[in-house]
Amino acid sequence: MSHIFATWRMDYINIEKPAGCIFCNFPKENKDDERYILARGDECFVILNLYPYNPGHMMVVPYRHTNIYESLSGAEISDMTRLTSRALSVIKRVMSPDGFNVGMNLGKAAGAGIDEHLHQHIVPRWVGDCNFMPVFSDTRVVPEALSATYKKLKGEWNI
Ligand SMILES: [Zn+2]
Repeated sequence: MSHIFATWRMDYINIEKPAGCIFCNFPKENKDDERYILARGDECFVILNLYPYNPGHMMVVPYRHTNIYESLSGAEISDMTRLTSRALSVIKRVMSPDGFNVGMNLGKAAGAGIDEHLHQHIVPRWVGDCNFMPVFSDTRVVPEALSATYKKLKGEWNI
């Protein structure tokens, strides 16, 4: 089988979107554990993706609501870079991936699920994970698995 099917993402596509912007609202709620917020910087925060392409899939997001990359300030870019770098080292220590995809989908046409508030994806990759995914094709990513991943990563982040 040569296609990648992350079919649990259909849950994401099919669910009713919550009102407002989750990237604006979640950090304000101060329920970081419930919202799977891993870390907070001065300008950006780090949050686990609820519908990950792979375990450990996280996003670095500016607090400021914008979808225009070139509007980011030097401080925002610097914080995003610092948190991305830290995320890579934490994921490496906890999950030993073989590689990473790091980047942004800007605009719906580019595949952005939430296109009104930009965010940088960090997706750990393992050799053969594309081939392996169909095995899980009718498996949802259960909250318990997400929660366990969150605890491990958060523990390592705070060392
Ligand atoms: Zn927002």
